[in-house]
Amino acid sequence: MENKGLLIILSGPSGVGKGTVRKHIMADRSLNLKYSISMTTREPRPKEKDGRDYFFVTDEVFEQNIKDGNFLEWAEFVGHKYGTPRDKVEELRNSGYNVFLEIETSGAAQVIKAVGDDPGLVTIFLMPPSIEALEARIRNRKWEKEEVIQSRLAKGRVEIESADLYQYTVLNDYVQRSAWEIRHIIRTRMAELNGDEKPIVE
Ligand code: 5GP
Repeated sequence: MENKGLLIILSGPSGVGKGTVRKHIMADRSLNLKYSISMTTREPRPKEKDGRDYFFVTDEVFEQNIKDGNFLEWAEFVGHKYGTPRDKVEELRNSGYNVFLEIETSGAAQVIKAVGDDPGLVTIFLMPPSIEALEARIRNRKWEKEEVIQSRLAKGRVEIESADLYQYTVLNDYVQRSAWEIRHIIRTRMAELNGDEKPIVE
């Protein structure tokens, strides 16, 4: 039988660059990763696609999924709900894939509470080089209103205080470097889970 895959959680404040780092990591086929597509009640942004970036659903559909116990975790973030479909994660891990979740801190806390002793759980917090850099990045997103930007910044400051919850903190100073560090963490944990020697540094 295949070994069960890792459950990798990446969190970090809005604007830190999680999406860009994630794309670099997902491009490494040797890591055997599958991205867990979340469900959300927020509107799609330009270029976002239903079923690829998120499953965009109504409040009613989201509520029904909560009632049916379909989420591994879910949370409210700046006025919208976001949740991780439970079955898909389990199915992929059981098939030997390493499942990658990009979620905010209160959802991560729920997963840590539920399955914190799972040796396959890998939790990583992506840290911005400074609050100023974070603000500049959020302001670069032209599609959001000032009040949303302010709420995301305020939430980001609170999220940074939760970094201690995570097994690893990675500084996102340069995308290539932080993606390399995260790939190394994943490789190390894959080797540990399979009882192999530690991987040789790339
Ligand atoms: P955004 O609106 O920028 O796509 O996402 C807002 C925040 O929600 C980000 O921190 C993102 O990582 C997080 N998020 C996305 N999907 C989920 C999910 O399924 N659960 C939780 N708890 N957070 C999520």
